[in-house]
Amino acid sequence: MSADCVFCKIVSGAIPSLRLFEDRHAVAFLDIAPLAPGHTLLVPRRHATRLIDLPPDELADVVRPLPRLARAVLEASGAEGLNVLQNNGPAAGQVVEHVHIHLIPRRRGDGLGFRWNAGRYGAGEAEDIAARLRRALECAGA
Ligand code: 5GP
Ligand code: ZN
Repeated sequence: MSADCVFCKIVSGAIPSLRLFEDRHAVAFLDIAPLAPGHTLLVPRRHATRLIDLPPDELADVVRPLPRLARAVLEASGAEGLNVLQNNGPAAGQVVEHVHIHLIPRRRGDGLGFRWNAGRYGAGEAEDIAARLRRALECAGA
């Protein structure tokens, strides 16, 4: 528990939320400022800032209910699709520093969109970054 973390306070019940699901590892509740009705957040009970701060087994426990939650969000909101979004670090849009997974109901033409400014690799660039990624993966372990 982190004393000034809003999601720790939601998990403990110190501040209210519209709770949808909970088990030993995770809690899901409605986002207070939804991108669409039914916008849901899934968070680990234990405070961790970013995805990479969670041990793999703990992360696996946290995301286990994700498919069930996704089906429920789709069914209850009547959405046609769903974005699962997980922001890490301010540069990636993370505001609340407690790991959380957004489930965002989507409809064609809902105007939400997102900028997907796809680029192209120059000669050798893809091979270069792939080699760096493979080296990083060897160093990173499990
Ligand atoms: P982030 O930008 O960090 O990925 O997203 C944080 C999300 O948490 C935002 O969508 C925001 O609306 C939501 N949020 C922030 N404070 C509260 C709160 O007190 N209660 C609830 N239910 N959601 C919150
Ligand atoms: Zn927290």
